Amino acid sequence: MKIDILTLFPEMFDALNHSILKRAQNNNLIDISVHNIRDFSLDKNKRCDDYSYGGGAGMIMTPQPIFDAIKSVKTKKSYVVYFSPKGKILTQKKVESLANCEKDLVLLCGHYEGIDERVISLCVDEEISIGDYVLTGGEIPAMVLVDAVARYIPNVLGNENATQMESFSQNLLEYPQYTRPFEFEGESVPQVLLDGNHKEVDKWRQEKMVEITKKRRPDLFRKRKKEQENSKKENSKQEKNKNDKK
Ligand code: SAH
Repeated sequence: MKIDILTLFPEMFDALNHSILKRAQNNNLIDISVHNIRDFSLDKNKRCDDYSYGGGAGMIMTPQPIFDAIKSVKTKKSYVVYFSPKGKILTQKKVESLANCEKDLVLLCGHYEGIDERVISLCVDEEISIGDYVLTGGEIPAMVLVDAVARYIPNVLGNENATQMESFSQNLLEYPQYTRPFEFEGESVPQVLLDGNHKEVDKWRQEKMVEITKKRRPDLFRKRKKEQENSKKENSKQEKNKNDKK
């Protein structure tokens, strides 16, 4: 997967050159290029921000450097994302669909008080927020997205099942995890995990997922119920159509 990141602070993305993401890039599973928007500024001082029309605190990123930066990386296969608190909140479902969308991602990071609205209307396919709080820039949100998307790219995690059973994948939070030693500070690992009965382990984990989700995220649990009911309805509708045709 190809990802182009447009930012005024390229050095911040050094954070992507560690651990799993570093290995994924070294193995050519993911191709990340970071571009400095300032390099595209036609201003004699390479300025990229200016005062807000209508007044108000803080600076706004000017449209020309961003527009030209996007133009320089954009192809027919590109999907341009702008990070903004006004965007749609990023979910695991969205992460999965971006990972599978077969497009090249262009990630635009705003800074200061944001960017000129005309760049959004001219060039941006989707605005994404990483949560209901305001950050100083879109750089950390871009890294959040890259990190979450990378986990869905084949061979990045090593274990292909890893993304199927974890938190949010079925609108459930993950079960508790244990590793060695068997006993730590007087607390032991639940016996069922040691008995080698995979069916019982799966059952225990499923029960824990439901228990934890109900307790900590009742909203997620309600969503799960609703989606289950909808898919049941959909299935019986399809079954009925099949029978009617017979
Ligand atoms: N004045 C803006 C906030 C600007 S924050 C407003 O009130 O909406 C500066 C930049 O940080 C934004 O342009 C955006 O790219 C990024 N940003 C801040 N919070 C974010 C969030 N929750 N999700 C995604 N991007 C965010």
